[in-house]
Amino acid sequence: MTCRPPGQALIKLIEAAAYALDVSEHSVSVVRLDVLPLDEVHELARVVAGWLRNAGFIEPNTRLDAMWQPSLWMPGREWRTAVEAVRWLDAFEKTANNGVDVERERSAHHPVENLEVAACGLCGSVLPDEVYFETLEIWLDKGEPEIECSRCQSRALIGDWPAEFGFAVGSPAVRFNNWPSLRGSFVNELRRQLGGRTFVVKAHT
Ligand SMILES: [Zn+2]
Repeated sequence: MTCRPPGQALIKLIEAAAYALDVSEHSVSVVRLDVLPLDEVHELARVVAGWLRNAGFIEPNTRLDAMWQPSLWMPGREWRTAVEAVRWLDAFEKTANNGVDVERERSAHHPVENLEVAACGLCGSVLPDEVYFETLEIWLDKGEPEIECSRCQSRALIGDWPAEFGFAVGSPAVRFNNWPSLRGSFVNELRRQLGGRTFVVKAHT
């Protein structure tokens, strides 16, 4: 029996399946941390959505479906320029729930299964779990807490503690559902558009 290399159609199928398995549900949210008056939040959300749309990264979702495509925005004609080149790019356009949400309501953005405890920006000392988890509730209820590092005594707002997979509370926020890895330059520009202090939440469920 001879072993033939798989055909293009088969390769595409395998890639689509690998994509579906690998990244079944994940998202990246860029969150504005500063507390703004409600009208400013709405205006900022409108401006940022306009920027994303004008640049072609998103467009109004014409295939709205509560279960499969629930977001108001879907990938626009230039979505490829916002992401890293990966082999399953073609599969992305057909995947369920690949829209973008521009959220105005102040809420907690949580990395779910990705969660890792934040570490001090100065000395790298990791926060005790219970302290870190408590901050989320305080942040939601009373506002962003300032935390002191038990090792170097430096103080910083919790949103400024570096955490690759940390949570954040704020608004507005832009969430990319099941997109390929976003380019650093794109994320930086989006953060600039949101202004002030921002945090990137990488969720996996
Ligand atoms: Zn420290």
